[in-house]
Amino acid sequence: SGTDGSAAASAAPGARPLLPVVGGGVPVPVVTGGTVPYANLDYAASAPSLESVAARLTTALPLYSSVHRGAGYASQVMTSLFESAREEISAFVGARGDDEVIFTRCTTDALNLAARAVPAGGEVVFLDIEHHANLLPWRARAHRCVTAAATVGETLAVLAADLDARPAALVAVTGASNVSGEVTPLADIVALAHARGARVLVDAAQLAPHRPIDMAATDVDYVAFAGHKLYAPYGAGALVGRRDWLDRAEPFLYGGGAVHDVSLGEISWTTGPQRHEAGSPNVLGAVAMAAAATALRGLPAGAMEAQELALRTRLTDGLSALGARIVRIWEDAPDVIGLATFTFDGHDPARVAAYLSAEHGVGVRTGRFCAHPLFARLGFGREGAIRASFGVGSHAGDIDRLVAALDAYLTEGP
Ligand code: PLP
Repeated sequence: SGTDGSAAASAAPGARPLLPVVGGGVPVPVVTGGTVPYANLDYAASAPSLESVAARLTTALPLYSSVHRGAGYASQVMTSLFESAREEISAFVGARGDDEVIFTRCTTDALNLAARAVPAGGEVVFLDIEHHANLLPWRARAHRCVTAAATVGETLAVLAADLDARPAALVAVTGASNVSGEVTPLADIVALAHARGARVLVDAAQLAPHRPIDMAATDVDYVAFAGHKLYAPYGAGALVGRRDWLDRAEPFLYGGGAVHDVSLGEISWTTGPQRHEAGSPNVLGAVAMAAAATALRGLPAGAMEAQELALRTRLTDGLSALGARIVRIWEDAPDVIGLATFTFDGHDPARVAAYLSAEHGVGVRTGRFCAHPLFARLGFGREGAIRASFGVGSHAGDIDRLVAALDAYLTEGP
């Protein structure tokens, strides 16, 4: 985008991107001929990389080398960058001093690792609003699904009643919905779960890029998230949290780096993050994710919230004026991230989205967003809905182009 963050801070919320991203407004072809600047409204799937992430990678690449085992200078530097990335990730989520930070490939890996770490016999409770990544690992182990109610208060009451009826080891909940953008009342969930002896794991895939996380202050036990939604490239994620379960869990992968000693008769596994990080790690992925995390931490307090509120209000006002039905889970969600999912009666979402891209260079996503049980409960068919999502590289012009393109589709047809 070429827009500088400090200039953005002094402009009205939404007028400019908060942080420059690589490829912001890159020219894309449209069917009418020529190109238009890309309006990327699909941040919730994978967000573009920050320019500061690209700069960090450029600095790290010349010394790209093996970590942990190499004796050479480049290996020493890489190992130090990799372990500093772990510290940056720990600071980003406000981890307690003794929390473990385990690097994974993505949020899905982190959640599957967490599922493996729940002590034998411990049950897990999750809501039906979850992304499949925070649903199928629990379903596979026959854990308990609770149907969310129409309000936050009622949902908390249903959850509490479930935990009163049968103990659980863990409540696994999304931090922000990838379908509605609604933010989960984590403090309330932690209070009710801890009072009943259950830990809390947060699928922060959507929350981490949009809201500060403070594990120490909120007492959340585990968080899982990924770099590719956090303004870094694909291939790195993290699970952060209490080390006792993780140190006793079956190693996530079997292989080099996860062991103290191996003989043909016995294996002595390490504890600490290496227990679950066998094989050559994605060093640059971790470094990139940490660079993004540090850049987000550096934003002035409240800047992201103000930016997203301005852009989301602009978006939902525009959609409502066009007669869209906007998907909500709760009537009273306390906060919503930069995302809105919507439909227009009688219009196929995939067709609308194809038109937006081909004619206007506007990128959105359609479908059921890996949340099939929620879509079924809300009465949607397999075609699902349209999702527009944005973040620190977005500005009001992106939203205006989407709304104008939808208006054109509805008035002129595809
Ligand atoms: N959880 C939520 C809420 C998501 O939105 C996503 C991705 O869409 C995931 C988990 C899975 O994330 P990843 O692609 O990093 O495995």
